Amino acid sequence: MKFGGTSVADLDRIANAAARVKEEVDAGNDVIVTVSAMAGVTNQLVGYVDQTSPLYDAREYDAIVASGEQVTAGLMALRLQAMGLSARSWLGWQIPIRTNEIHGKARMEEIQTAEIEKRFAEGQVAVVAGFQGISPSNRITTLGRGGTDTTAVALAAAFKADRCDIYTDVDGVYTTDPRIVSKARKIDMISFEEMLELASQGAKVLQTRSVELAMNHGVRVQVRSSFDPSPGTMVVDEDEIVEQQVVSGIAYSRDEAKITLVRVKDQPGIAAAIFGPLSDSAINVDMIVQSVSADGQRTDMTFTVTKSDLGRALEVLETNRGEIGYEDLLSDDNVVKVSVIGVGMRSHAGVAQTMFRTLSEKGINIQVISTSEIKISTLISEDYTELALRALHTAYGLDAEDA
Ligand code: ADP
Ligand code: ASP
Ligand code: MG
Repeated sequence: MKFGGTSVADLDRIANAAARVKEEVDAGNDVIVTVSAMAGVTNQLVGYVDQTSPLYDAREYDAIVASGEQVTAGLMALRLQAMGLSARSWLGWQIPIRTNEIHGKARMEEIQTAEIEKRFAEGQVAVVAGFQGISPSNRITTLGRGGTDTTAVALAAAFKADRCDIYTDVDGVYTTDPRIVSKARKIDMISFEEMLELASQGAKVLQTRSVELAMNHGVRVQVRSSFDPSPGTMVVDEDEIVEQQVVSGIAYSRDEAKITLVRVKDQPGIAAAIFGPLSDSAINVDMIVQSVSADGQRTDMTFTVTKSDLGRALEVLETNRGEIGYEDLLSDDNVVKVSVIGVGMRSHAGVAQTMFRTLSEKGINIQVISTSEIKISTLISEDYTELALRALHTAYGLDAEDA
């Protein structure tokens, strides 16, 4: 059972979450609970780091930001004890949850199960601090923002759990972010693949890595509300879904910035000269378009990076101006990437056309397009985020009937 930040935001909510845990224990289940920090706490801790040292040492970043989960894990264990249950809190290093050395976005490598299993036999509930582990050099690591989802799925896989329930502030996965589109509809069952695309294209209801892990280990994940007992959304294998939609959901990401290199030489090696140095600086490039060169000599190259990487990316491109040879370097961070996702796209034509037509009817200019087998993404001005999401949601027939 994983409880996110809003589900453990204060002592009353921790008591509410603990009551959900007690129900499962009373039903005869062995339970591992994993908790996030109280809502807002991780942001505050990240803020402290940034204010102290903008170019921080990632090992100390992890030491600081992992602390929020320590508090909620202890409080959850205390609350469960107060309800008459046997419960004990565990930090990542105490289990241990071993990760690699990549501070700030570490990957889990191994979880020891022996001690907690022994305590299951004694009827004890394990309360595990989410989002953290321990590196090969015995330093605390964190798993990237939203990482408690991944802790939950990894624990479920390691302990061969029957279920992994992700308790959050919405009662399931919706066709798009219900905070932006009031007509968004709850999805009862979604395939791993579609959930993976939704998450990686910005729907933060599950951390992308958690979906990947669940898919690889066959963990049955349910996203549900900690405030409302109704069933949530099951994330399952594609073949378990009887009625497949062409488009299942729409995601957006504001964490994008666009860079254009104006009039680069149209010759072999130019893409390598641009993207090599960016990759050497660990800057991830997402969408890429190269325009046709009018004169066969020069062309424009446009691509996107995350907003937080924009400054560094521009610096790298300035430094390498000599080798790349462009006339001008433009950037824009007032953009949003909107993606429509659905496995039905594999077998249906016209899905992209509906997106382009809908955006054009609203007068929204498409700046960059990219596609994969089950996804179409467009980059548009951030000012049109809500308008685009609502219009597309209607165009693909996703609107809830009663909203
Ligand atoms: P937690 O703190 O429990 O981990 P998050 O804030 O990380 O919760 O994730 C839940 C939020 O994800 C919701 O409040 C909602 O605004 C947002 N969200 C974005 N896209 C979707 C979607 N397709 N379905 C449900 N929630 C979504
Ligand atoms: N507390 C961490 C965060 O805010 C991890 C999580 O909530 O999943 O990113
Ligand atoms: Mg989250």
